[in-house]
Amino acid sequence: MNEPAANTIYARATAPGRAALAVIRLSGPDCLAALSALGAGCPPPRQASVRRLADPESGRLLDEALVIYFTAPHSYTGEDVLELHLHGGEAVVASILDALARQPQCRAAAPGEFTRRAVLQGKLDLTRAEAVADLIDAETTAQQHQALGQLGGNLRDLFDGWRADLHEALAHLEADLEFADEDLPGGIGRAALARLPALRAAVDAYIGDARGLRVREGVRVALLGAPNVGKSSLLNRLAGRNAAIVSARAGTTRDIIEVAMTLAGVPVTLVDTAGLRAAGDDIEREGVRRALAAAREADIRVLVTAPDATEDADKGIPAEHGDLPPAAFLLKNKADLQPIDTGANTNIETDSDADNIYSVSALTGAGIDGFVTALSALIQHRYASSGSAVLTRQRHQTILTEVRAGLDRAIDAEARGLELAAEDLRLAARALGRLTGAVDVEALLDIVFADFCIGK
Ligand code: GDP
Repeated sequence: MNEPAANTIYARATAPGRAALAVIRLSGPDCLAALSALGAGCPPPRQASVRRLADPESGRLLDEALVIYFTAPHSYTGEDVLELHLHGGEAVVASILDALARQPQCRAAAPGEFTRRAVLQGKLDLTRAEAVADLIDAETTAQQHQALGQLGGNLRDLFDGWRADLHEALAHLEADLEFADEDLPGGIGRAALARLPALRAAVDAYIGDARGLRVREGVRVALLGAPNVGKSSLLNRLAGRNAAIVSARAGTTRDIIEVAMTLAGVPVTLVDTAGLRAAGDDIEREGVRRALAAAREADIRVLVTAPDATEDADKGIPAEHGDLPPAAFLLKNKADLQPIDTGANTNIETDSDADNIYSVSALTGAGIDGFVTALSALIQHRYASSGSAVLTRQRHQTILTEVRAGLDRAIDAEARGLELAAEDLRLAARALGRLTGAVDVEALLDIVFADFCIGK
């Protein structure tokens, strides 16, 4: 790879748009040279100093800024870093960026490049770099807390702890192999192997836990039920705006409508599905197919019924979809109507607990608050973490699956011999190292930094 000539990078660290302040950050060996080109002298490290910044060619004043200098390695990136706290006007920021662009020792930073340098300089491991991205993207309190926990190193500590356990087991296995003929305490290799199932169980518990991913990406809640029971009306009621078209004609909602909201600090996507009905044209059947797919993918299913329902909700479910997971809530909508027993009902399973049944009216709003409180409590219970480490990316799940496979092989290597077990443990430890970037960091950077913004 060709290393670009200029090794000092700069970028606006704050969002564009009129604001009181804007921060431009520089990192690299030529920070101070760039500042000097702007006509400002070297500020004392880690002290906010007012500096007049001028155009390098014309000497025209561009801004009076607050400048902070961090000397390597005591900075975010581990390199020399300069922060220019400018007045936030677009003209000011553009003129400074333009002046920096004309400096041969500087170049504009690529997305995530500051954090990438921090990783390469050993300031952050990969899990903490991921946490930086998550903290910037955090829109809800649960996302914020999760990212802060990870930035604090909870995932790194977990992975490093497992890796240390593996290394210890490996050391014992190797000692056993090396000194097999000598007077070592008997079977330390086998004793090490005997400790692996516990480690595998610990890893397993994390692989099966999707909480962190849900908090990052949103929990999907699907409303399902027969046509005209009021799913769209409920979605509108819950979203507080007219997101779905409400119509008295059965089968209007032919596609999937989604509304984003926050419950218990967790991002939630509420999905309104087409009514489940047996009859209908091709388009409607496609709607039902999508509704079922959405219901299956959802994390939480809410089954809606109404006293005037004319169809059984499950009549529309083709046989191959009969295995829909149970609904967490049953909403008896149109509570404002006199119950009309049409005989229509549903056989879709709910977690059969009377606590999960709510009588509501999308029309009057009655009962809606109670349902939202219960839904929030369920989401809080299931997804909001207590600050303990959770896997937050598919990358973590994938690598841990590899680790588990290595442990599986090592555990049943007893019969095949300790040497093979040692090799499996080495592979598992190596995979764990890829989670934090302790091994193969260069190869992982592009994956981890794919969704970073410029200026980070
Ligand atoms: P969907 O097909 O399940 O999405 O049902 P819609 O939301 O389109 O509603 C079907 C019909 O039922 C519309 O005429 C709504 O105005 C009506 N409706 C929905 N919720 C209620 C309710 O709580 N009470 C009454 N009386 N009518 C409702």
